[in-house]
Amino acid sequence: MSRIRGKHTGPEMLVRRELFSRGFRYRLHAKDLPGKPDLVFPKYGCVLIVDGCFWHGHQNCKVFRLPKTRVAFWRNKIETNRKRDTRNNRALRKLGWRVVHVWECQLSAKRMEKTINRVCFEIKQMK
Ligand SMILES: [Zn+2]
Repeated sequence: MSRIRGKHTGPEMLVRRELFSRGFRYRLHAKDLPGKPDLVFPKYGCVLIVDGCFWHGHQNCKVFRLPKTRVAFWRNKIETNRKRDTRNNRALRKLGWRVVHVWECQLSAKRMEKTINRVCFEIKQMK
């Protein structure tokens, strides 16, 4: 199983490519920010986080299924990730950043266009 949240993974690359082609410029994996958000748009005071549905426990998601074995282990692991995500989001907002979020399943061929449009709109919103 691959770690979605690692660098240079599929869903994140998709978003990066789309936003770049639409003229957005960004920093990657800013180490000086809580949770090292995937993309940072200093001009807009905004960060973008692309999360894998499994590792970050996307609720009511068709892609996310708990494995049938070691259920407690996985549940625990995902819950830990979710708590960390919440903590990081809060810390980022406290520092004045707006946080835009994309789930892996929103980047399927069918939903991609709509998702990117929504993301572009949200990034450009003023504080
Ligand atoms: Zn999902």
